[in-house]
Amino acid sequence: MEKLIRGIHEFQSHLFCAQRELFERLAHGQHPDALFITCSDSRVNPNLITQTQPGDLFILRNAGNIVPPYGAVKGGEDATIEYAVAALGIRDIVVCGHSGCGAMKALLEPESVRRLPAVAAWLQHAEATRRIMSENYGEEAGDALLLDTIKENVLVQIENLRTHPAVAAGLAAGRLNLHGWVYQIETGEVFAYDPNHRQFRPVVEAAQGEVPAPQRLAATRAI
Ligand code: ZN
Repeated sequence: MEKLIRGIHEFQSHLFCAQRELFERLAHGQHPDALFITCSDSRVNPNLITQTQPGDLFILRNAGNIVPPYGAVKGGEDATIEYAVAALGIRDIVVCGHSGCGAMKALLEPESVRRLPAVAAWLQHAEATRRIMSENYGEEAGDALLLDTIKENVLVQIENLRTHPAVAAGLAAGRLNLHGWVYQIETGEVFAYDPNHRQFRPVVEAAQGEVPAPQRLAATRAI
């Protein structure tokens, strides 16, 4: 805890003063650019990797950057997504997976969470990912299998996003874009799903448009 308390002192005495105007403006309300859905993993820092400021990203985090289909869970995900789209008018939603994701490892090795019933239950919302991997990636193993699982899961969760009424309405009206990203911890690279090339490509090269209907097989070898 000491490290956290020291950090708050540091923040208040240096950074806050330097950006006082920003914080005063933020006190009047928020107008974030994007809803950023990512894993709870401590190594993933959305503001750091996108070089954004407080107020820029509306962030939803959980184990495995999972988006349960609408109504499947009486939890915070539905409310967060609805508020972001319908109340804040957010126009872009990013689902960002990451390399070395423990949740995706557990999805591939269900035995490892036998004593973690809440985690095991939560991962059922990624059952489609597990099924896609077992039926289509039988030849793969180890790191390659994990990385492709992470990528396929991003695409599966984007499909789940579409079941949310606020998202469906935004897409139908052409005022919302969905983006699938994977962050590679060891290199700092971010890859985006490019629907035109049907693969993940470096984010700066990838098309930034909406991810269309499922196009996932052979979609994931580029990282
Ligand atoms: Zn993770």
